[in-house]
Parts: sequence; structure tokens; C-alpha cells
Amino acid sequence: MKGSKSKSRFRRARVAGLGVLLAAVAGVALAPARAAEVNVYSARKEVLIRPLFDAFEAETGITVNLVSGKADALLERLRREGVNTPADVLLTTDAGRLARAKDAGLLQPVASPVLAANIPAQYVDRDRTWFGLSLRARPIMYARDRVDPAMLSTYEALAGPEWRERICIRSSNNIYNQSLLAALIHHLGPEKAEAWARGMVANFARRPQGGDRDQLRAVAAGECDVAIANTYYLAKLATSSRESDREAAAKIAIFWPDQASFGVHVNVSGAGVTRYAKNRDAAVRLLEFLAGDEAQRLYAETVYEYPVKPGVPVADLVAAWGTFKADDINLSILGENNAEAVRIFDRVGWP
Ligand code: FE
Repeated sequence: MKGSKSKSRFRRARVAGLGVLLAAVAGVALAPARAAEVNVYSARKEVLIRPLFDAFEAETGITVNLVSGKADALLERLRREGVNTPADVLLTTDAGRLARAKDAGLLQPVASPVLAANIPAQYVDRDRTWFGLSLRARPIMYARDRVDPAMLSTYEALAGPEWRERICIRSSNNIYNQSLLAALIHHLGPEKAEAWARGMVANFARRPQGGDRDQLRAVAAGECDVAIANTYYLAKLATSSRESDREAAAKIAIFWPDQASFGVHVNVSGAGVTRYAKNRDAAVRLLEFLAGDEAQRLYAETVYEYPVKPGVPVADLVAAWGTFKADDINLSILGENNAEAVRIFDRVGWP
């Protein structure tokens, strides 16, 4: 009994050993057909982006592995990992930040007819290392009960003396304001852009604190009369589960500035294929999917931004704000003028 038991155990071990050997051989032979996957480093909230990746997986059979994190931390991680990074795609916000990734050598050029056809050229890096996937507008917002919109016109005019201690806007270490100033440097020249920043600082109702939503809450609370903020934050307040936020949103209206000149400052969230992507084809396919009609509509609707692909509808709430003339400069300029913008903010003492 004892002997036969140990003998059968031995046999099983030999069979298992053979199995491992066969599996190893098969593994080598099947390696190229391994299930396709793509690894994404994403600075966008997982709940917002996951439905899109699910749709991509269903359509292509390519698995999307998602690592979510803060934008600057993900950039740093990508830099640290270098050639060994598992990331194939970097998904993040702001053309200024995408330019930073490009300048750090973390992205590679992609020549895709689909991306070229779907995304207007001004929302694509000049060297095609990153592609805008959703569009955000950064207009003026004002307190309905205290500001006559006839008093508003341009970003430049907000630096005038009639707005003394009436403006709320976030800190200058935020990339959104750096990109806004980068665009103004392009349109007005560095001297006028600096004068604008100086005038804005003189008009602050309080020292910059918090994010865009906090500026809007401050306008609603009467701490200031106008703010500059990205529109999706107004949508987030309007659709918030907190009653106080919904009430705040109801007190605020959007003013589209510079309609007779260069238009409203816009920026993108976007993505690029990493320089050392191991799954390059799948990465390009994911970008193409995100630039397609279905993803564009879904994405814009969930994040309350604007699609980059012309003709794709916006969310009802966004449509209710009306249409506007958007600045159409190539967003590569935001990265190119970033260093100068930061120097100006330092000189004028914009915290
Ligand atoms: Fe944001």
C-alpha cells in the first residue's frame, strides 16, 4: 500500500514535470500571440476614464491596464523608470504639461492618418508626440447679482482699476494659469502680458488659494465678483451632490471674453505614446479609439468638456452655455511660452 502510493505520487510528479516542459515549449511558440494589452498612466479620474477603456476592450480585445495618479507624480515616475517603464500611453491634462513630457524625452512621434483626420491640427503637438483628446475653455465667470456683463469684454480689461479687489483666481504654480499667460504672451507680447499679470495681482480680492471650484464658491459667497476658471468646474458644481455647491453654481454665469479678437483661451487633456512603449501598436489604436466619435461623445459628456473632433455633440448642460469663438493658436505654444510665463508670475508677485 505504502509503496504503491508513493509510486503513484512519483508518476504524478513525472506527468506534472512533462506538463511544465510542454507548457514551456508551447509558451515559447505562442509568445507572439499572447493576449494583447496596453498599459496606461492616467492623470484622469479612473471612474471617468474606465468606461471608455471598457468600450475599447470590447471592440478590440486589447486589455487596458490602468495606473492612475497625480499628473506631476506620473510624469516623474515615467522619467525615473526610463527605458524600463511598463507604460505605453501617458494620459494627462494641459498642453503645457504634455509639452513637459515631450521635452523630457518621454514621448515618441506618432504618424496616424486616423488621428490626423479626427483632431484639428492646433490641438496636436507640432512633432505629433501628443494629441488633444478633450477641449477645456477657461473664460471669465461672474456673480449674476453683482456684475453687469456689459462691463466685461476681454481678459486684458480685468486688469483695469474698476476691478480692484474684485477678482478671485488660483495660484500661479497651477499649470492652467501658466498656460493662459503663455497664450496671452503670444497674442499681446511679453510686455503687455506682464502688465496684465501685474494688474490682475492688484485686483485680487484675496490671496490665491484652492482650485478653480474654490474660486467659484468664493464668487457665489460674495468674496469676489469675477473669477477665471475652466467651465467643467461650473458643471461639477451644478451637478454636485452637495446642495450648497448647486446653489453656488446657480449664482454664477459665464462670460466669453475676447470675442472680437483672439477668442476664449482653450486647452486640452490629451495623450501620447511613451518613448519606450512595448505595446506601441495597441497604444496607437487606443489613441485612435479615444479620438473616434463614440469615445469623443462619451468623454466630453462625462467630464463636461468639449470634444476635439468637430461635429461631435456636447453635454446638454454644456450646450446651454452657448457657443463662443475659441482661441485657435497651436497649443504647442503653451509649452513653448511656459518658462516665460512662470518668470512673469514671479516678477509680478502672483503667489
Ligand atoms: Fe482641472
